[in-house]
Amino acid sequence: MIVIEAKKLKKSYENKVVLDIPSLKIKKSQIVSICGPSGAGKTTLLSILGTLMKTDNHKETSLKIMDVDITKMTSNNMAKFRNNHLGFIFQFHELLYEFNVIENIIIPGLIAKQSKTELITKATEILKILNIVDLKYSNPRNISGGEKQRVAVARSLINNPSIIFADEPSGNLDAKNADDLHKLFFRLRDEFGQTFVIVTHNKKLSKISDRIVKLADGKIKPR
Ligand code: ADP
Repeated sequence: MIVIEAKKLKKSYENKVVLDIPSLKIKKSQIVSICGPSGAGKTTLLSILGTLMKTDNHKETSLKIMDVDITKMTSNNMAKFRNNHLGFIFQFHELLYEFNVIENIIIPGLIAKQSKTELITKATEILKILNIVDLKYSNPRNISGGEKQRVAVARSLINNPSIIFADEPSGNLDAKNADDLHKLFFRLRDEFGQTFVIVTHNKKLSKISDRIVKLADGKIKPR
């Protein structure tokens, strides 16, 4: 089953083409690594697939996510769709230090207007899966880098997203924490059938992923 079907993705900055992809399909429950040198267009591609950025040729672009063409949606509906179906993990976890761990995790659920009590129960379950339930009431300022990244993963999972987009999620972690995080992605994929689209320079991760999309100068290199 195809979860992302993109056609005609074009993006330029100052007359320089940074992305030109005629078509790309991503299958359900696959872990897809997006690789390539710095400046190849990886983050641009991830942002467009994740509905965070529009192409320059918006009218001719088609981006079907779980069979819904999101290019036809109003920006309000697109934001709702994003919050309900997509999860994001960034290199710099972007946790809010004004809130404790569990509060950080439930924020996307509160935005989706779910009950706070149910969200706390669910966040606690996710923290158990990630082996960090003891940190529930900690301030994210006082936990390690690997733990912060696991909290960011928990936050990305709170609305049961079908697809998780990650930009260099292990870029900031030591080898052991990076391996643990990658194992976690595979476990979540196996247990919940989620699809992962991951921009990564990590060779170990790309090697074990189901598919590698190689980018160079904004184009997908043939396999
Ligand atoms: P990668 O993630 O592979 O390093 P990016 O998608 O971040 O590549 O960037 C692709 C190209 O687009 C690079 O040449 C980058 O300098 C350029 N670029 C990205 N964002 C902007 C921007 N906001 N303004 C101008 N150029 C940009």
